[in-house]
Amino acid sequence: MFSYPDVQLYIGGAWRKAAETLPVVNPATGGEIGRLPVAGRQDLEDALQAAEAGFRVWRATSPRARAEVILRAAALMRARIDEIAHAITLEHGKPLPQARMEVIRGCEFFEWDAGEAQRLYGRVVPSAPGIRYMVIQQPVGTVAAFSPWNFPMSQPARKIAGALAAGCSIIIKAAEETPAGAMHIARAFHDAGLPAGVLNLVFGHPAEISSFLIPQPQVRLVAFTGSTSVGIHLTEMASRSMTPVLMELGGHAPVIVCDDVDPVAAGRMSAARKARNAGQVCTSPTRFFVDEALFDAYASAFAERAAAVRMGDGMASGTEMGPLANHRRVEAIEALVEDARAKGARVLTGGVRPNGPGYFYPVTVLADVPEDARVMREEPFGPLAVINRVASLDAAIRAANALPFGLAAYGFTHDAARAERIMMEVEAGNISINTLEASVAEVPFGGVKASGQGREGGMEGMQHYVEVKTISHRMELESDPKVSGA
Ligand code: NAD
Repeated sequence: MFSYPDVQLYIGGAWRKAAETLPVVNPATGGEIGRLPVAGRQDLEDALQAAEAGFRVWRATSPRARAEVILRAAALMRARIDEIAHAITLEHGKPLPQARMEVIRGCEFFEWDAGEAQRLYGRVVPSAPGIRYMVIQQPVGTVAAFSPWNFPMSQPARKIAGALAAGCSIIIKAAEETPAGAMHIARAFHDAGLPAGVLNLVFGHPAEISSFLIPQPQVRLVAFTGSTSVGIHLTEMASRSMTPVLMELGGHAPVIVCDDVDPVAAGRMSAARKARNAGQVCTSPTRFFVDEALFDAYASAFAERAAAVRMGDGMASGTEMGPLANHRRVEAIEALVEDARAKGARVLTGGVRPNGPGYFYPVTVLADVPEDARVMREEPFGPLAVINRVASLDAAIRAANALPFGLAAYGFTHDAARAERIMMEVEAGNISINTLEASVAEVPFGGVKASGQGREGGMEGMQHYVEVKTISHRMELESDPKVSGA
């Protein structure tokens, strides 16, 4: 059996303890499992200096050599999957098989971006004789990144993968609640021979770290995943120095269920997906707009499967859904359910917090939820689903687009014309038809509207970590220069 790791900061290629620590808690029990090192001012200054030095080395490392280090680190993480998954389940609560899948997914991000590192092509532009125009891509510099607690390993993996593949150095502040996932990434890169300073991992008080790092001139990109409100705050801070941002923010994913699908299969599939990671996923399907012809059959299949979800300690075999990751989520979900109930929503299943320790809350299904209920606008980020009936596809698309969010959206239909309308008219960065999967390494992922800026993954993800440089190269000096030009 593995023990929870002794979490430390990783700065300039060395592990370091911190003077201040905070408890890390197992959300299934509420008990302390470890300590979070809190980076002080000196740690952050050292990380910045180390990242500058690391960048000088890494940008001069060939793309193939960079890819080799990344692939070596990914292979180490795959070999250590049991140990990493164990730590993730302890600190986050998700069932062990889901923690293992998260580790594999994180490795896939590294493996994909290692390939992309070698495809950062430039171009030679046709030009007049004697002069050549070239466009090249260079790593942007040091990245300040902030990753959240819902996927302790794969969230930091996405940002570290993009930065390192492009030739950038990175200082990442991983989430306070779930530090071990990121720590295992740093450990793998250390063992894989990553030069010192290329990857620096810090933890601590988020506002102190972001307000120190973001204004620094060495920081050339700010990458954040988290809530829209924090994303806006960090974007404002970055804009003062025109530092570009990559923002993966909140969602409130709509699901349009047309009348040509099997309502029982679609309902059961929707409930199972809602329970994934206890609903703490920015792409989690949340607002279900169901054609009134199959509403009853769909809603009852959904509620029945939701009620059967086996909730428990993620370490126990057979657990399908663990606790929520922290008490804030339980309180937020409880408040949204009470508000909707008071405004007339029907609770089909769930809605009652169980007695006992841990941050447990069951999958909760609300039906016929009025427009003025808070959950119709606020992202629950937990195991809460809203099922409302709609009279037409037009009405469903209008409802789907009614919020400022636009991250993921889903449709269930076998009718090509309806699928086409959903794909073309719903405002979201990611649309999935007849599947509730929204993000894999090989395609870009990101939001429109208040759900963010930029994309991670695919060919597009790397574009944030590089800047374009145009080069004009004349072979000979002009012998008789004239004052000219437009
Ligand atoms: P929160 O808004 O306080 O924090 C969200 C994340 O931002 C955390 O990881 C936190 O460490 C970080 N953060 C907060 N203030 C920061 C600052 N000043 N500088 C840098 N980082 C900062 O909320 P929370 O209770 O931790 O999470 C709940 C909300 O966060 C959810 O409603 C959801 O919208 C959002 N969230 C989104 C994702 C995602 O994948 N998009 C992941 C986790 C949380």
